[in-house]
Amino acid sequence: MNVLDLVRPDLCDFGGYGSARKSGLKGRIWLNANESPWASPADPGQGLNRYPEPQPAALRTRLAELYGVPEDTLLMTRGSDEGIDLLTRALCRAEREAVLVTPPVFGMYAVSARVQAARVVEVPLVDEGDRFRFDVDAVLRTLALSLAHVPVKLLYVCSPSNPTGDALPLAEIERLLQGVADRALVVVDEAYAEYSTQPSALRLRPRFANLVVLRTLSKAFALAGARLGTTIADPALIRVLTAIAPPYPLAAPAVALALEAVSASAADEARRRAGRIVAERGRVASVLARQPGVRAVYASEANYLLLRFDDAEAAFQSLLAAGVVVRDQRTQTGLHDALRISIGSVEENDAMLAALAPTRPGCAAAERSLPLSRA
Ligand SMILES: *Cc1c(COP(=O)(O)O)cnc(C)c1O
Repeated sequence: MNVLDLVRPDLCDFGGYGSARKSGLKGRIWLNANESPWASPADPGQGLNRYPEPQPAALRTRLAELYGVPEDTLLMTRGSDEGIDLLTRALCRAEREAVLVTPPVFGMYAVSARVQAARVVEVPLVDEGDRFRFDVDAVLRTLALSLAHVPVKLLYVCSPSNPTGDALPLAEIERLLQGVADRALVVVDEAYAEYSTQPSALRLRPRFANLVVLRTLSKAFALAGARLGTTIADPALIRVLTAIAPPYPLAAPAVALALEAVSASAADEARRRAGRIVAERGRVASVLARQPGVRAVYASEANYLLLRFDDAEAAFQSLLAAGVVVRDQRTQTGLHDALRISIGSVEENDAMLAALAPTRPGCAAAERSLPLSRA
């Protein structure tokens, strides 16, 4: 298939803004971009008086190596949030086309659709009590029905899924891609891949032109504040996304930091830390599963746990009173009694568990003097 058949026809041959940096001219004295000839007194020697490279070559090369993909399949963005936004705008015409999401799921897919005035089609995940299952058959049925009226152009697979923690096996992703054929783009959001035992969907990339994979440095690479995400897709689609992206999306200090954060040694450290989080996830899950008032702990392949409570409001307030902030999920489809709790350091997790532990009147003082009793 030609992936450009899915792109908005008015954007297929759109070149985008011809920025001064894009022209590819060589020279010694730069008088083409109305920049200051002097560095700012605040500049730590990074040449920030000049506009940055739109897609910095060194970082691109390293990310391609890290993810094991060809360089021309990769677009760096301000977080994967920007990748989601660009995909929505490149594929969906306002009011006439749709994205498909599987609630409860990461909110940005629907937010970007809303901004673009694209329609949102929902196929809920199936709650099996201890995990939420992505229903490939239901998604394919809905896709077939929607095509005549408001065609679905983008279909999101969040794996591991936020907030449920479930990861879709590679064989199921492949079955989905085969069923979708060339009717829509399948976007597999792997923000939490580093915490999962499932292999990455990147393995399927060479075989499916309509497969897009999103990765980010915001989670396991500890750079949420630097805003660096990667969209991995067919080179023809990458060219369209590059054309509609802002001319200089990546700030030079963030790029310099990211380059260090994905060095071989930093990547090893990121993997070790992910291993620690996975171990803590197991420990925290088993403590919480025994806790009165906790109705369900969903299996997680990510760095958080989704929990149901008898009284979610009381749990939320007890945590807040102890200074522990967790994510309230109660307005999400099917999660009226649920909270999502990130896995932190051992000390942070212990503080969270202590805040949720039931305190029996009269025994509180004794419990406090036995710090290990709750484990
Ligand atoms: C955190 C998260 C992201 C990452 O967003 P960035 O913009 O890269 O920080 C993407 N998708 C999901 C599902 C997430 O939870």
